[in-house]
Amino acid sequence: MSEKKKLFIKTWGCQMNVYDSERMAESLGHEGYEPTEKVEDADMILLNTCHIREKAAEKIYSELGRFKGLKADNPDLKIGVAGCVAQAEGGEIIRRQPMVDLVVGPQTYHRLPKMMETVKQGKRALDTDFPEEDKFEHLKLRPKAKRAPAAFLTVQEGCDKFCAFCVVPYTRGAEVSRPVERIIREANELVERGVREITLLGQNVNAYHGQGPKGTMGLAGLIAELDKVDGLERIRYTTSHPNDMEDALIEAHGTCAKLMPYLHLPVQSGSDKILKRMNRNHTAESYLRVIERFREARPDILLSGDFIVGFPEETDQDFEDTMALVREVHYGQAYSFCYSSRPGTPAAERALVDPQVAKERLHRLQELLWEQQRQTQTDMIGRTVSVMFEKPGRIEGQMIGKSGYLHAVHAAAEGVQVGDIRDVKIIATESNSLTGEIL
Ligand code: SAM
Ligand code: SF4
Repeated sequence: MSEKKKLFIKTWGCQMNVYDSERMAESLGHEGYEPTEKVEDADMILLNTCHIREKAAEKIYSELGRFKGLKADNPDLKIGVAGCVAQAEGGEIIRRQPMVDLVVGPQTYHRLPKMMETVKQGKRALDTDFPEEDKFEHLKLRPKAKRAPAAFLTVQEGCDKFCAFCVVPYTRGAEVSRPVERIIREANELVERGVREITLLGQNVNAYHGQGPKGTMGLAGLIAELDKVDGLERIRYTTSHPNDMEDALIEAHGTCAKLMPYLHLPVQSGSDKILKRMNRNHTAESYLRVIERFREARPDILLSGDFIVGFPEETDQDFEDTMALVREVHYGQAYSFCYSSRPGTPAAERALVDPQVAKERLHRLQELLWEQQRQTQTDMIGRTVSVMFEKPGRIEGQMIGKSGYLHAVHAAAEGVQVGDIRDVKIIATESNSLTGEIL
């Protein structure tokens, strides 16, 4: 029997890329590759890239430069670039780095086996189409082997919103939802492999409108169908847009026990002027109203968000409006970034805020968000939360898992198996995790 070849994948960016990497690894598994953590052992290196912020492409070129020695040692080593940088740069990658064998966009990786045929013949393979066919239906069947208990499942891709700063509509294409029945089938397959928690993914996951048995269905309808999947204990979804929140989804947080009390709802800015220039099509007030309704449905819901500071024409007052919004919402967790100009987006034409000013604003915002995160964690002390254990901890006998609020929790867990869900009393907080005792 021929020995299996080794595949090394490095993933940047969002959870959708994590999901795509898993699917690409499975697809290449059918071509005789098994995963390795060590790049030096690899027969194939695949970089799954993100294009969301500045210098993404440059980082990939310098990463590729580091593989020169490996390619010299092993001329059979294959190198591929996937993801949103591949989509944006296309053939330019092969022109600048001729040692790259394969460039594949996020919408064409179901064609990897065919592309590998080309590569095996010593040719370069490039595919960054936006194909007609449904990629998911053309991917080989997922393996049956046991896997980690928490999984991502992409249900919606692409975006039609065209926020003025964002490359996603250009790199991921138009908004498309997968049919309900296929998602349920994939969820069942994951559960058979030991999965107990599924995070539904989409660039605008709450804009989901997939074909169901009786017409199209929104995200709340899909979650109601997933609620019926035996063995699936926890459901999450990300990322949502404030304008696509249907009443039924908000209500589901009060009625569906499997739906976890966590919401990631990016706002980007607290200034209506900036929101308008960002083409967000919502105001700070309308965002706050959505949050209020979630809190009515599920008072303990933990809120997370995304923020961009230093967007073109952001004044001190605009930034203070963002700080005020953050104080009003009180986030348990958040992601914040300095604005990064992306070629081809409408905002790229506009004058930049002084980078030093933007940095100082980001620092102040992050201090406030960090203080809120710490407070949220401290408030957990003394509470009993349900934790799904995912892996052994660093200390003998300890396991690490996630609470419903997505906090990492570690506890002495004699006899507890990966995938077990237990009630845990929180006794202490550390910078990025909680310590608990299993009840
Ligand atoms: N669809 C989601 C939404 O509407 O909020 C987010 C998608 S995007 C992949 C994730 C986050 O990256 C955004 O929420 C935004 O905060 C950040 N981001 C996107 N483009 C950016 C840019 N040009 N500069 C800085 N941050 C950016
Ligand atoms: Fe990008 Fe805006 Fe679409 Fe989110 S909603 S993916 S930020 S364009």
